[in-house]
Amino acid sequence: MVLVVGGAGYVGSHTLLALREAGREAIALDDLSRGHEWALLGAPLVRADVTDLEALRYVFGRHQVSAVLHFAGLIEVGESVKDPAGFYHANVHGTWCLLEAMREAGVRDLVFSSTAAVYGEPEHTPIPEMHPRNPTSPYGDTKLAAERLIQAYEAAYGFRAVRLRYFNAAGADPEGRLGEAHDPETHLIPRALLSVLGRGQFTVFGDDYPTPDGTCVRDYVHVCDLAAAHVAALDALRRGESGAFNLGTGRGASVREVVEAVRAVTGADFSPGVAPRRPGDPAVLVADPGLAGSVLGWQPQRSDLLTVVEDAWRWHRRSLQAD
Ligand code: UDP
Repeated sequence: MVLVVGGAGYVGSHTLLALREAGREAIALDDLSRGHEWALLGAPLVRADVTDLEALRYVFGRHQVSAVLHFAGLIEVGESVKDPAGFYHANVHGTWCLLEAMREAGVRDLVFSSTAAVYGEPEHTPIPEMHPRNPTSPYGDTKLAAERLIQAYEAAYGFRAVRLRYFNAAGADPEGRLGEAHDPETHLIPRALLSVLGRGQFTVFGDDYPTPDGTCVRDYVHVCDLAAAHVAALDALRRGESGAFNLGTGRGASVREVVEAVRAVTGADFSPGVAPRRPGDPAVLVADPGLAGSVLGWQPQRSDLLTVVEDAWRWHRRSLQAD
């Protein structure tokens, strides 16, 4: 049995579905503070906060857990600047509680959701895992601190962990069962699509970056490819592999290219205005995903930009119709 902590969130729910479709038994733990019960698609849920050590002990006592996927955490950079205490509590203390409960229960295999934000402003791109880690936000700091905590448990207590550093998660289940539903939504692709649907304003944050078209370049990776990477990581742990792995495509897309893709997919006459830069945004963030390919055997399958935007569009249209 795999315990999926944060299984009602965006990447967690797509991974929970991928596990079940691969025939693995899985149970979710989520406090539903940010996640959604519908996103479980009927999978069993323990409703609890990851910082609730008693609840974690109860879960490990009741279920034969062989491995843990840890998605639970706060993710929004701007929020982390305003509320670092909340971020350290959720992301670092939460990880400590989970590790302690695992240690007590004798569960040693962990896959952890980390982020490209651990690298901070890149010194060079594409970014390999060896790149210096200099986060530029409390969010990145908490994810790096959690990674280090996990490494200490590996060194001292025989844990084995795969730390997956996501670049820009995007897209939705191609069958439209799941998708991105943050509140408030801060991410580029959903914000652009929602504005086409008349929900909210959308502007391009800065067009004076040192990039070919002046807008920021990011490495968008389909959420179903991320889900597949977690399944591959569980298999890799069984083979005795561990470590940190970038999850991206190795190709960047600019905000303008995303806007073009949104125009092409939706057919909307979509010409957003330009607003000032968003503080803290690096110009270019592109992964070197070579290690995930060679060690995990992972290759993105659905991460070309048009497919990502098409899948997200299908989801957003459907979820607004259901409103
Ligand atoms: N962005 C934008 N308008 C928006 C939201 C985001 O121009 O309404 C830009 C943002 O400045 C960044 C890129 O889109 O360059 C991706 O931002 P997102 O928040 O999706 O992901 P991040 O790279 O910050 O993790």
